[in-house]
Formats: sequence, C-alpha cells, structure tokens
Amino acid sequence: MATVSLKGIKKTFGKTEVIHGIDMEIEDGEFIVIVGPSGCGKSTLLRMVAGLETVTGGEVQIGGARVNEREPMERDIAMVFQNYALYPHMSVFDNMAYGLKIAGTPKTEIAERVNEAAALLQLGDYLDRRPRELSGGQRQRVAMGRAIVRKPSVFLFDEPLSNLDAKLRVQMRLEIKQLQRRLGVTSLYVTHDQVEAMTLADRMIVMNAGRADQIGAPLEVYANPATEFVAGFIGSPP
Ligand code: ADP
Ligand code: MG
Repeated sequence: MATVSLKGIKKTFGKTEVIHGIDMEIEDGEFIVIVGPSGCGKSTLLRMVAGLETVTGGEVQIGGARVNEREPMERDIAMVFQNYALYPHMSVFDNMAYGLKIAGTPKTEIAERVNEAAALLQLGDYLDRRPRELSGGQRQRVAMGRAIVRKPSVFLFDEPLSNLDAKLRVQMRLEIKQLQRRLGVTSLYVTHDQVEAMTLADRMIVMNAGRADQIGAPLEVYANPATEFVAGFIGSPP
C-alpha cells in the first residue's frame, strides 16, 4: 500500500484560488475522510491526488514520490465516483475487466483478478448479468470491483453513495469499511455527510472554503472542535 503526503496544496481556477494550502501526512492503510459542505473544495482536492486536476501549488506525494507530473494511470490509484457509470451493454465481468484490458493485462490474469474481486464483493453469481439486471447495491459493488481489480495502493472515493437511498447508503458504508479493513488499502473518501464521515474515518479533514479547519480522529474532532465552523458542522456540544 502507500503513504500519501499533501504538502501545501493549492488550486487556482482562472484567477480564483479555491484551495488555499492544505498539508497532511496520510499513513499507509489509513482511511481518511474529507468532509465539508458543498463547494468547499473536496472534489478538487481529491482530483489533484488522482491527477485529474493539475496542482497549482505544493506537492502531492504517493509512496514518498512526487506525482504532480504523473498521469492518473501512472499513480497507482483507483477512483470510485458518485456517477459510477457502468457500461450498460457489457456484462458485470466485462465492466470489471475493462480497465485491465485497456492496460494490456493478460487474459488469464484478468479472469483471476475479476473472480477474486467478485468473490470479495459477493458478485460471483452475477458476472454474466448486465447492470440493469442488478440492484442499486450490486451496481455500487461492481463500481468498487472495477477499482479493486486494479490492485491500487490508494483508493479515492468521491461521494460514492450519494445516489443511493438512505437505507442502502448505511449498508454500503459498512461494506466499504469492512472491505477497506480487509484489503488495507490507503483510502481518501469525500463526503458532505457528517455521520458518514464519523463512521468511516480513521482521521478526517474538515474542510471550510478551501482550507482544512481541522484534521483528527472523529471523536477528537467532535470533542475538541478547532473552530466554530467545525463545531457547527460536526454538531459538537457547546
Ligand atoms: P465540493 O466537492 O466540496 O463540493 P468542488 O471541489 O467541486 O467542491 O469545488 C470547489 C470550488 O471550486 C467551487 O467554488 C467550484 O465552483 C470551483 N470549481 C470546481 N471545479 C471548477 C472548474 N473546473 N472551474 C472553475 N471553478 C471550479
Ligand atoms: Mg464534490
């Protein structure tokens, strides 16, 4: 797996700076949640780690190496999005295998990895189905499977559950946590949902308008909010 370091990360769109210098050292195997209200810069921060946005200041390191100039495919990461568009005309197997095929992974190894991920995700009996023949939870698991088969050192999640209904969201939240524990993959997980953040995080970054107001374990943040914003957002007692 890998450590991730954010060193003075900034992002400017045009003339507007939206991320104002974020520092964080993420340990190997940690589950980090980036939480904050809509528009505070969570997705932008994650996308810079992924290589989907350029970094306009500071440095992103994965496994101790600077990756600012590396393409997403060269960063040893896998990302699960909110709109995890599965290919509707492809089977579950082919949906999970797609990224590996593109990367030129040998067929036997693709089959091995997909079957292994499917077993982990309880999708073994569904590999021949099309996405429309699956439940919402199963579709979400296929999206997870696509990330797992790549065997990345880091998982990046951007509000992966926000399209699901409340009950399923709670169930999938538990599944993601168990899976992460089992695989031990360093994870950065973006959500605007405080409860989701408190449940999932080893440590959380509470973001407020492009800054990290506080970084800490959920109970620590809850008990000792660093700013009034954090207290209000997390719902700490006065
Ligand atoms: P969040 O994910 O927390 O809702 P975002 O990272 O999407 O927030 O956005 C942070 C800020 O950056 C917002 O003010 C948003 O309007 C702005 N922003 C995001 N992407 C772009 C872009 N491609 N061009 C210009 N501004 C952007
Ligand atoms: Mg976002």
